[in-house]
Order: sequence, then structure tokens, then C-alpha cells
Amino acid sequence: MLNFTVGPVMSSESVCAIGAEQVPYFRTSEFSEIMLENEKYMLEYSKAPEESRAVFMTCSSTGSMEAVVMNCFSKDDKVLVINGGSFGHRFVELCEIHDIPHVALELEHGKSLTKERLYEYDQQGFTGLLVNVDETSTAVLYDTMMIGEFCKKNEMFFVCDCVSSFLADPFNMTECGADVMITGSQKVLACPPGISIIVLGPRGLERVAESKVRTMYFDLKDALKNQERGQTPFTPAVGILLQINERLKEIERLGGADAEIARVAAQAQDFRDKIAELPFEFVSESPANGVTSVHPITAKAFDIFLKLKDEYGIWICPNGGEMKDKIFRVGHIGALTHEDNDILINALKDLQKRGLL
Ligand SMILES: *Cc1c(COP(=O)(O)O)cnc(C)c1O
Repeated sequence: MLNFTVGPVMSSESVCAIGAEQVPYFRTSEFSEIMLENEKYMLEYSKAPEESRAVFMTCSSTGSMEAVVMNCFSKDDKVLVINGGSFGHRFVELCEIHDIPHVALELEHGKSLTKERLYEYDQQGFTGLLVNVDETSTAVLYDTMMIGEFCKKNEMFFVCDCVSSFLADPFNMTECGADVMITGSQKVLACPPGISIIVLGPRGLERVAESKVRTMYFDLKDALKNQERGQTPFTPAVGILLQINERLKEIERLGGADAEIARVAAQAQDFRDKIAELPFEFVSESPANGVTSVHPITAKAFDIFLKLKDEYGIWICPNGGEMKDKIFRVGHIGALTHEDNDILINALKDLQKRGLL
């Protein structure tokens, strides 16, 4: 299998090897040490400000999006949600479910967020902002420095869903002033799905401490208190946390967060250069490094996905809903190489030769 989706993605051999081992009991000092090390790496790689903390949630990243909405906002807030695709829409739905007053800034799919559009919401009493830094459904990357400046000016609590952009696109939590950063195990961390991670800056910690939310599993106060000693309130996905530890150390061995971002950027550029001769159009303005959104001019996107999967053993990422036949996506995250790009390009050229493209 050759997997170019945006998660789960291909894992390195050392991460896979841990998956083949027995899963240890976890209420031990050995496991606590690993968890504290995981936290240290997460704070370093997200460039979090002093006094920040990270917690590891056993749920998909949507669970952490929900936990953040529940623990950091209340009926007294007025939240601006950047909605440029299905992940932006998910934040809108979470605000609805949890009765958080909100307004959605709707963007046409594939369009980036301009300063002009954002400043239509200047000085209007907003207290918070939710954004998916890479809106993975369209592969648009938003400008966190520009949004951060807006939030600072308006004294807004700033939440970044970096689920697919963490370690793929430059992100500096301290410089952009984000109060919360969310990511997950199955994107650039290239581990199996099941763990998501929430990094909280000082203001994020303050909001959690003051929260009166009623929940057991999503209580971030409880998660933070347990993580002080490298533990979790309930049984976590122990095996994946061990794989994450290996992966975080692997990134360090390969030169750290910036080197990993450069590697993903080069993987994306290589693919974008190589598909230039095929009958495709790029969809996104300000494309993210993690994924390329492609519109095939001469064939249906979903048919290409099926053919590659069933006849070539190659997985690209289909889109859903109204984008199903128009767009497919190719991921550049996980253990992929430029040679893997060649294999995909050759398969596409073969489809073209067969008259299917
Ligand atoms: C993948 C992703 C998520 C979370 O998806 P889960 O299926 O819940 O893990 C959230 N936001 C973005 C931007 C994503 O790319």
C-alpha cells in the first residue's frame, strides 16, 4: 500500500515496530516519564510560550476540538469562526451544540482569508476566534500571524486547530499569540489515530481553570492535573503514546520541527512540479504544505481515486459531498519520499495512456 491521504498516513519503520509489541501497564513511573517527555517535545515543537502545558486526549482530534470549545468558552462569549470548508463547519456545529454564541465568517471553498474580510469583524465585541489553520478539506492555509494580530487588537481568545498543519507549515504559538493549539496523532505525527493533543498557553490555562463546564471525559482541568505527574485520568491509548514518543524523538534526530516542516514543504513542491504536465488544476489559494487539492479537468475525481486504489494499490484522498467528483487531494505528510511521488505520477500517466484521464 502506498498512502497519500491526509490521515492516517504512512508511519516510519521504528513507529511500526512499536505497534507490533505488547502494550505495557501504564500507572508506572516509566510511563509517566515518557508522557512528560512527550509534553516537553510538544511545547518545544509548537513554540509555545513559557508556562504552557500540553495534554494528551484519547479521542480523535474532533474530541479535542469539542473539549476546547467546552472548556474555554461559555454563554458569555461571542466567538468568530472561520468557516472555509468541512472543518470550519465542524467548529460552527460545536458552538451550536454547546450553546456558544458565535458568528461564522464564511469563505468560498479554496479561498484564503484576506485582511479585508477579517477586519469586517473588527471592534464588534467578539471574545474569541476559532480557525483550522490548514482547512484540510480544501488545503487552504490561513495566516496565523495576521489573525493573531487581529485577535490581540480585539482582545480575543485565539484557538488554532493545527491538526493537519502542525509540523507541516511554519507555526509559532508565541509569536502569533495563539492561546490553544490542537493536533492529532494520525497527521504529521504519522502514528495511528486515537490520540489528540491540546497545547494550552497561559491564557488557555486560565480559561480552563475558571471553566464551570459539566463533563467527565472532556474535563481539561482533570487532564492537566493528571499530566502534572505524566498521567491521564482514564486509560489512554498507551501504545500510540509510546509510538508518539518514538516519533517525536525521530523528528529531533532529523533536525527538529523546522527540518520536518522543510521536508514536508519539499515533498509538496516535488509533487506540484511533477503534476504540471497532467490535465489538472490546483484549487487552493495559499496552499498548505501538507496536502494538495487537485481538480482533474478531463475525468471525475472520485473515479481516479477508485482506479488508483483498486488497480494500482495507491491511496489518494477523495473529497465528499459536492466536491466528490471535482476534487481529490494528495497528501505530503507521513513517511513518503520523492520516489513515492514518482510512483503516483507514473500511475496517473498510465491512466492517461489508457484513455481514463
Ligand atoms: C483531520 C482533521 C481534524 C480531525 O479529524 P478527526 O477525524 O477527528 O481526527 C480536525 N481538523 C482538521 C483541520 C483536520 O485536518
